[in-house]
Amino acid sequence: MTVIRGATTVATDCQEEISASVKEMLDEVFAQNALKKEEVRAFLFSLTTDIHSYHPAKAAREAGYDFAPLFAAIEPEINGGLKLCIRLMLFTELLDNRTVKHVYQKGAKVLRKDISEIYNIALDGPAGSGKSTIAKILARDYNILYLDTGAMYRACGLKALRLGVDPKDGVAVEKMLPTLDVKVEYKDGAQRTILDGEDVSLSIRENAVSMAASSISAHPAVRMKMVELQREIAKGISCVLDGRDIGSTVLPDAKFKFFITADSKVRAMRRFKELQARGENVDFDTLHAEIVARDKQDSEREFSPLVCAKDAIVIDTSDMDIEQVITAVKAAVQSKI
Ligand code: C5P
Repeated sequence: MTVIRGATTVATDCQEEISASVKEMLDEVFAQNALKKEEVRAFLFSLTTDIHSYHPAKAAREAGYDFAPLFAAIEPEINGGLKLCIRLMLFTELLDNRTVKHVYQKGAKVLRKDISEIYNIALDGPAGSGKSTIAKILARDYNILYLDTGAMYRACGLKALRLGVDPKDGVAVEKMLPTLDVKVEYKDGAQRTILDGEDVSLSIRENAVSMAASSISAHPAVRMKMVELQREIAKGISCVLDGRDIGSTVLPDAKFKFFITADSKVRAMRRFKELQARGENVDFDTLHAEIVARDKQDSEREFSPLVCAKDAIVIDTSDMDIEQVITAVKAAVQSKI
C-alpha cells in the first residue's frame, strides 16, 4: 500500500469553493502521479473544524472520483493550526514502483515547506488603513511570518525622542545611528520590537512616537539600515510584511502586492478608537490632522516614499469590514499559490 498526501485551503467556507478546491487537488494528485483508477483503494479526507458548508468526500464523488470508497472526518482543533484546510490521504496499490508526489496547494503549501515554493506578501498603504490587522490574520491563517516594519521605524523615532534628538535633523540623526540597535524577536508568534536591548513593543505605539517615526524614516541612512534588517528577516521564508515601501523597495519581487488604503477620516477614527481603548486621551480632529500630515510626509519624502507599486492590487477599505477585506485579499492570494 502506498499513501499519497494532499492538502489545500479555501478562502471562505462555501460550497462552490470547497468543491472547486477538492477537484483541483485531486486532479493535480492524479496528474502528478499518473494514477490509474484501478490503483486507487480509498480516499480519506480530513477537514478543519471551520469548514461546515460542504463535505469534501461528496465534492470528490461529484467531480468523478467515485471509483473507490470515500470518507471524510473532522480534525482536532489545534491552536495556531492552519485554517479552512482540507487534507487528503489517498491509499493506492501502485502497479509499478514509481516515486509518489505529494500535492500541497494554496495556503496548505506552508505545511510542506520542503516541497513548496516560498512566497512573500507585501502590504503597503497609509496609516490606519488596516494593514497590520490584515497581515496578522494572513500570517495566522497561512502559518507564515509577519513583520511589522513600521514598528522598526517607530523604535528609531522613540530613540530620538528619548535622546532629545530632533527626528527631522539629518545630521543629528546620522550621529545617533551607530548606537541605534533595533532588533525583532518573536514570542508566542507575536513580534517584539527591541531597542537597545529593551522590549519597546508597547511604548512605540504611543501617539507621540508616530510623527517621530515618520520624520526619522525619511532619512536615507535610517532606511538603508532598516531595509537591510527587514530583508535579512524575510530571507528564505514565506512571510507577510506591512509598511510603506515593501512592494516597491524592500521586496520588489514579492509574489503578492497589495496597496491598502481608506479615506483619511475613516483611518483617523480607527486610530482614535484604538488609542482610546488603550487609555490614551486624544482629540479626533488633532488625530485626523496628524494622519493627513503623516500621509503627506510619507508620500512626499524623496527616498523610498509611500507609493503604490505598479503591480499591486489596490483595496480601498473605507466601506469594508475586516472580513470583507480578508476575503478579497485571500481570493487574490489563493488564485496564485
Ligand atoms: O505603520 P506605522 O504607522 O507603524 O509606521 C510608522 C511610520 O514609519 C510611518 O508613518 C512611516 O513614515 C514609517 N514607515 C516607513 N516605511 C515602512 C514602514 C513604516 O517609512 N516600511
